[in-house]
Amino acid sequence: MTTLATSNPLLQPWNTPYGLPPFEQVAPELFEPAFEAALAQHLAQVEAIAADPNPPSFDNTIAAIDRSGRLLDRIEGLFYNLTSSETSPALQAVERKMAPRLAAHRSAFYMHQPLFARIDALHAQRESLGLTPESRRVLERFHFDFVRAGAKLEPAAQQRYAQIMGRLAELTTRFGQNVLADESAYQLVLRDESERAGLPDFVRAATAQAAADRGVTDGLMVTLSRSHIVPFLTFSERRDLREQAWRAWTSRGEHAGPNDNRDVAREILTLRNEQARLHGFASYADYALTDTMAGAQSQVTALLKQVWEPAKARAAQEQQALQALALSRGETLQIEPWDWRFYAEKVRQVRYDLDEATIKPYFPLTRMVEAVFDCAQRLFGIRFVEQPEVKAYHPDVKVYEVRAADDTVIGVFLHDNFARATKRSGAWMSSYRQQSRNGETADGRVIPIVVNNNNFAKGAPGEPTLLSYDDANTLFHEFGHGLHGLLSNVTYERLSGTSVLRDFVELPSQLFEHWLAEPEVLKRHARHYKTGEAIPDALVAKLHEARLFNQGYETVRYTASALVDMAAHALTSAEAPDVVEFERAELERIGAPASTGINHRLTHFQHLFAGSGYAAGYYVYLWAEVLDADGYDAFVEAGNPFDAAVAARLRQFIYSSGNSIEPSAAYRAFRGRGPVVEPMLKQRGLVGSETT
Ligand SMILES: [Zn+2]
Repeated sequence: MTTLATSNPLLQPWNTPYGLPPFEQVAPELFEPAFEAALAQHLAQVEAIAADPNPPSFDNTIAAIDRSGRLLDRIEGLFYNLTSSETSPALQAVERKMAPRLAAHRSAFYMHQPLFARIDALHAQRESLGLTPESRRVLERFHFDFVRAGAKLEPAAQQRYAQIMGRLAELTTRFGQNVLADESAYQLVLRDESERAGLPDFVRAATAQAAADRGVTDGLMVTLSRSHIVPFLTFSERRDLREQAWRAWTSRGEHAGPNDNRDVAREILTLRNEQARLHGFASYADYALTDTMAGAQSQVTALLKQVWEPAKARAAQEQQALQALALSRGETLQIEPWDWRFYAEKVRQVRYDLDEATIKPYFPLTRMVEAVFDCAQRLFGIRFVEQPEVKAYHPDVKVYEVRAADDTVIGVFLHDNFARATKRSGAWMSSYRQQSRNGETADGRVIPIVVNNNNFAKGAPGEPTLLSYDDANTLFHEFGHGLHGLLSNVTYERLSGTSVLRDFVELPSQLFEHWLAEPEVLKRHARHYKTGEAIPDALVAKLHEARLFNQGYETVRYTASALVDMAAHALTSAEAPDVVEFERAELERIGAPASTGINHRLTHFQHLFAGSGYAAGYYVYLWAEVLDADGYDAFVEAGNPFDAAVAARLRQFIYSSGNSIEPSAAYRAFRGRGPVVEPMLKQRGLVGSETT
C-alpha cells in the first residue's frame, strides 16, 4: 500500500462501534483514492480466483466471489449513502467522476472470461456437485448475473456493452443530481398573511422551520420537499399559489439550462434499448422482465389493466364530489391538478368529519417510532436499543442496536427521518453492510447495518414533529424494508436481505404498513402529543371509513406512471423520442384524466432514470400489493395480528430468507398456497359495491 492508502482513514480498519464508517473523519477528497485502492484490491482478488490452478469448485469459485470486494462494498456503501442523505457539491463532483469508473470496473468483472469460464463449468455440473439448496441458488444467481451483464457476448459486442454501461452510469448520476438541483433551487416564501390563508398550525410550524433553516426570518417557506408541498396543496386557499407551487413541483428536470433532464432521459432510453438488443431482446422491458416474478410484459400489463379502468371510473366519481363541494362554496371551476388535494380534504372533512389537523396530534414521530419497534418485537421478538453515544453522519440520525430475544446483537439500525436540503426527496431503505455468514472474520458472521431515510418536516425547536397518517404509513413502509435487511439470515451476501427479485422487494415493506392500520396498534401508540390520550375510537373508525376515499385518484396517478414507464421501456426503435412529447401522447392514448396528474413525470422519474433498479419496474408496487394484501389475510384468518405461528412462517420465508428461496416458492411456503388478486382489489376499493 502507498502512504496515501495507509494514511487514508477509509482504507484503515474501521475500529468504530459495530464497524460503522468513521463518519467524523470522512472528507470528500478521501473517496477517490479509497475507491482506487478498493477497486485494485477487488480486481486482485478476482484475478486470484480466476487463476487458481485447482479445478473450479463451489468453495474456490462461488463462495470466494461472494466474499470478494468487501472493501469496495464498504466504501461504496458509505459513499452512496452520503450522496443520497447528506451530499455536497464536492461529493457530487466525486460521484460524477467515479460513476463511469465504477461502471467500467463492473463490466470488467462480469466480462472476465477466465472467471466466467469457472462459473459456467460449475453451472453445467450443478446437479452433481452435492450442493445445498442455498448453495445451488447462489451458483445459479451468479451465473445469471454474469450472463445478464454480458459475459456471453462476442468481444466486439462486449466492448460496446461496456461503453453503454459507462455512459448510462454518467447519465443516471446526472439525472438524480439535476432533480436535486431543481428541488433545492425552488423556494416559495410566504410573507403576507394573505398568502398563508388556510394553512393550519402544523404547516405553518414546518414551513417556518424550513425558512429558519435557510436563514429566512420574515416568512414561511414552502420547498419542493414532499412534506411541504403536499400539505401546501392540501390546505392553501390561494389557488394562484397552489398552481405556482404545483407547476414548480411537476416541472422538475424540465427547465432549459444545466439541470435539464429531457435529453438525459431520452439518451438513457436509447442506450437501454441498445443494451437489450445486444442481448437479443426487442426492448429493454423484455430484457428487464426476465429477472422478475412477472417474467413478461403481458403479465405486467394484464395486472395494470385490471386496475386502470376501475380506477378511472372511481376517480371520475371522486371528481364529481370535489366539483360539488366547490360549488357549495360558490366556486364554479374546473378541477385542476393543483385543486384536487385541496377539495379532497374539504370533502373528507364534510363526509367523514375528519381533517388532517385533528389527526396529526395523535401521530408524533417519537411515538410512531416506538410503534414500529413494538410491532417488530411482538412479531419477531427483536428489540431496538438506542445508542445515543454513537454518532452517525448528521446529528439528526439515531443509531440503534437490534437485539434478538437472547440479547445477541443481530444488526444495527440508523434512523434518518428529517428533510434537509442535502438529502434527496422521497423515502428509502439502504445498507452500509449486508448480513452474511461468509465474511472475513473467523466465524464468517457479518451483521447488517441498515438505514431508513424519510423526509418528514421537522417540528420547530421545542415542538414535536407530527406526522400525517400518510407519513406514518411511509415510516412503517421503510421500516418493513429495514426489517428485510435486519432479519436476513442467509449464508451468502449475494442472497442477503433485499437482494431479491424486484417485484418481490416491496412485499416486506408494504406488508408492514398493515400493522399501522390495526386498531389495536393505533390505540396503543397513536397518542396525543400533549395529553398522552389514546386516539379516540370514533377517530379510528373515521380513519377506516375514510380509507378508500380518494383511492381512485391515488390509483390513477400510480397506474398512469407505471403504464408510461412500461411503454417507454417497451419501445423498439433504435432512437428514443422526446420524452415530454412521448409522455403526453401516451397519457392521451390511455385516456388519463387531466385533473389528477400522475405520480412522476419522466423528467424527474428517479425510479426509472436515477438508476436502473426500477426501470420497467414501477409496476412492482402493485405486484407486491397483490402479495401483501393476500399475505396479511393470513393474520386476519388467524384472528390475531400478532399470531405467533403465522409470524414465525412470515419471518422464516419472507423477512429472513432473502433470495435463498425462489420467491413464488417462498410465498407459498409462508401462505400455504399461491397468491390471489382479489384482496388487493378490495384493499383499493376497486371491487364490490362500495362507493366513495
Ligand atoms: Zn418501498
